[in-house]
Amino acid sequence: MSLQDFLKQMEKEKEFLHVKDHVSTVFEISHLMKAFGDNGPILFFEKLKDSNVRVIANISGTRKRICAALNVHPDQLYRRLLWAWRSPKKPKIKADGTVKEVSEKKIDLSKIPILTHFERDAGPYITSGVIHARSVDGSIENLSVHRLQVLDKNHLAIRLVPRHLFKLWNGAKRAGKDLEIAISIGVHPAILLAASSPVPFGVNEFDVANALLNNHLRLIHCENVDADTPADAELVLEGRISAAKEVFEGPFVDITGTYDVQRKQPVVEVVGVMHRRDYVYEGLLPSGAEHRLLMGLPHEVLIWESVSKVVPKVYAVNLSAGGNGWLHAVIAIEKQLDGDGKNALLAAFAAHPSLKHAAVVDSDINVFDASEVEWAIATRFQAKEDLIIIENARGSTLDSSADQETGLTSKMGFDATRPFTKPREKFEKAKIPASKRIEKIARELEAV
Ligand code: MN
Repeated sequence: MSLQDFLKQMEKEKEFLHVKDHVSTVFEISHLMKAFGDNGPILFFEKLKDSNVRVIANISGTRKRICAALNVHPDQLYRRLLWAWRSPKKPKIKADGTVKEVSEKKIDLSKIPILTHFERDAGPYITSGVIHARSVDGSIENLSVHRLQVLDKNHLAIRLVPRHLFKLWNGAKRAGKDLEIAISIGVHPAILLAASSPVPFGVNEFDVANALLNNHLRLIHCENVDADTPADAELVLEGRISAAKEVFEGPFVDITGTYDVQRKQPVVEVVGVMHRRDYVYEGLLPSGAEHRLLMGLPHEVLIWESVSKVVPKVYAVNLSAGGNGWLHAVIAIEKQLDGDGKNALLAAFAAHPSLKHAAVVDSDINVFDASEVEWAIATRFQAKEDLIIIENARGSTLDSSADQETGLTSKMGFDATRPFTKPREKFEKAKIPASKRIEKIARELEAV
């Protein structure tokens, strides 16, 4: 299934909103993206003031749409992702694809409607690009998402966190070479989700995406660089990460909605641009619901798996919106003995090193409802007995309050499960008996 097929399906399911007003790539599109908040529709900006190309945004902005894209029941989502991480399948390489319909003769990034998002951002940034690269000896391939700052008509600055692509770039540098990359924009959500997945170095996330897509992913080799792109991507930029040239990248708003600092980062020279004839450009709002889900959801899987090893059942995990889908987790568990809650917290912190605050609750609490979670803390939690604080642990530098050099932070866990030592009835959520008739009336009144 291509991105286009998925968008058609979402249009049918009324998950789609056409924006027909003339809007600018500078602040206006990002303003509208932010205005919808969580659970917003896919936004299709059909008329731009400063471009003939259309912009699509918020494609993977809800859990519902992510499940639809992977064709999986919400209960099976984590299992499905875990399976794909462990059963990567090489996709077939095709000679041609729709991404090759137009090959630009002259590179000019200003012809692409790259968005400027926040007031003090350094300029336009590509935020939905998945980057494929090979090691110099060709033995390792990697796919990952990186922000890219537009510097001029054919140069970008790339933020390389010291992870897999950084390692490949260092390998190329040692061999005295630039690292060749393909930046694919406008790809199926499964590819974005695979590229954000915490699989080990050496696993090609394209193979994970292909597993998620039931072996239907097709790639093509790029023409100007030794890197690959989905045959039906909307747009691909072929480039080289310079071994020598660095610039100050940023400031830029990242997942927490605060400005990340300027750092010396490598420069990418864009040497080729290919796209579908009527391509759409994919926007992705930093710190928006989609950003949080794509980054957070794979880590919910890690927490779910890790906590499942210390308690009999994990009902749900939510890296919550207020915690930017990254720093706060709520986990609903079945506990067998008092103390299980704390072990669950330790397992969660071990599974997701950036996690700062976590709460465990019983299965009668909806982890996606902040008020219910607060209710559990209000009625089932005693700070003196149920709180754990871990000082000077490694956290995330994305958290402004953590040490910005080392990431050192204090972590806190709430065990808000019912204590077994006290009478069970005291902790029951009171119910009001309801007939089918009164339930129906309530639904009708709610719908008004
Ligand atoms: Mn990787």
